[in-house]
Amino acid sequence: MKPDDKNWFTDPLYLRHRGYFFDRGLSFECRQCGACCTGAPGVVYVNKKEIALIARYLHMKQDGFIRKYLYPVNDRYSIGEDSEGSCLFYRNGCIIYPVRPDQCKTYPFWFKNLRSEKNWQRISRSCPGIGKGRRYQKEEILSMIESLSSAYKLQ
Ligand code: SF4
Repeated sequence: MKPDDKNWFTDPLYLRHRGYFFDRGLSFECRQCGACCTGAPGVVYVNKKEIALIARYLHMKQDGFIRKYLYPVNDRYSIGEDSEGSCLFYRNGCIIYPVRPDQCKTYPFWFKNLRSEKNWQRISRSCPGIGKGRRYQKEEILSMIESLSSAYKLQ
């Protein structure tokens, strides 16, 4: 049942204790197929900390890195794509894998994919890692959603 408070939908306590289709967890293990890094374009946000980390990993100065690889989206930056819509860092695998942004690390456990079981089933058709490997518990899944939301102010 929803709390009486009109702000129930932003109450972290309520969000933690309500029921979800993933109450028993969800299995996932990345197969490194690259399907989520290539093909249709999409926004992949990077925050200040990640920009510094990736630029250092590539032995680049931050301003040069931003000019070469990022583009502005609203008041943030996203990683650029080539003419096919593939991530600029995907070359037969992710070339920044150890320092990839949280948005990549937490895929497919994104708010929009977890809004409903239907959304999760839809995304599972393009991600062969869903349904494989270890089971992520509800708490872990909610933590990923929360950390990504606060890091990029998504939702
Ligand atoms: S689509 Fe799924 S299995 Fe393939 S690289 Fe992305 S997360 Fe991994």
